[in-house]
Amino acid sequence: MIDCHCHLEQKEYDKEREELIKEWKQELRAIVTCCAHPRDFALTLGLCKKYPTFVFCSVGIHPEYVKEVNDDEIDKTLEKIENHKDKITAIGETGLDYYWIKEPEWQEKQRDLFRKLIAIAKKLGKPMVIHSRDATDDTINILEEEGMKNKKVLMHLFNDKKVLARVIDNGWFISIGPSIKKSKDIRKIARDTPLNKILLETDSPWFAQKEQGQEYGTPLNVKIACEKIAEIRKLEPEEVEKQTDLNAIEFFDLKLK
Ligand SMILES: [Zn+2]
Repeated sequence: MIDCHCHLEQKEYDKEREELIKEWKQELRAIVTCCAHPRDFALTLGLCKKYPTFVFCSVGIHPEYVKEVNDDEIDKTLEKIENHKDKITAIGETGLDYYWIKEPEWQEKQRDLFRKLIAIAKKLGKPMVIHSRDATDDTINILEEEGMKNKKVLMHLFNDKKVLARVIDNGWFISIGPSIKKSKDIRKIARDTPLNKILLETDSPWFAQKEQGQEYGTPLNVKIACEKIAEIRKLEPEEVEKQTDLNAIEFFDLKLK
């Protein structure tokens, strides 16, 4: 299985990051970690260099951090992405978050930042990992305006079933994580999305399985999403695993061992 979206840079992993990666390597084929803040760039790239056929990365600036990252840091991040393009698998996560950011002027700033990251993805020919919370219409409109229809776009943690048809029509991909257990809408999305458009994710360290005693989530939680999708679609988990692996390899152009 492949976890197409997690955050290995987070402090939850500080004490035993390398040990954990080695442990996960026994059970998973690959992990795509998402560098969401410029401060994590060196750590992310370091992990990709150390585990070149197992840890891959997506680099962006999360819309939630729009107030913390100034224009100079944005420019520097874009420059770094270009300078390290061979080590970077995708651009993101990026997008819009109107849940955490309510002020219209900062939402405007998010849209500017989003367009900048779309521009670099297009320039470098990289797939995009999209975060959208309470902002689906604006997110999709901007992607369409910027010519991303039928381009490699992955809607991460996607739960807005009323626009699913539009997402599918645009040829985009959807990643599904452990939150499928708690969300009826995500279960419907898992049922109605073509299987060749679904990837597995965890967004760990978030979505810890507290009832199983987990303090924080890990990429191994992709299994939860895989099993639930199989159950909903009346398939064997192995079939879901096989197809979602293929989807992730193709989407990110992963060079596995
Ligand atoms: Zn994330």
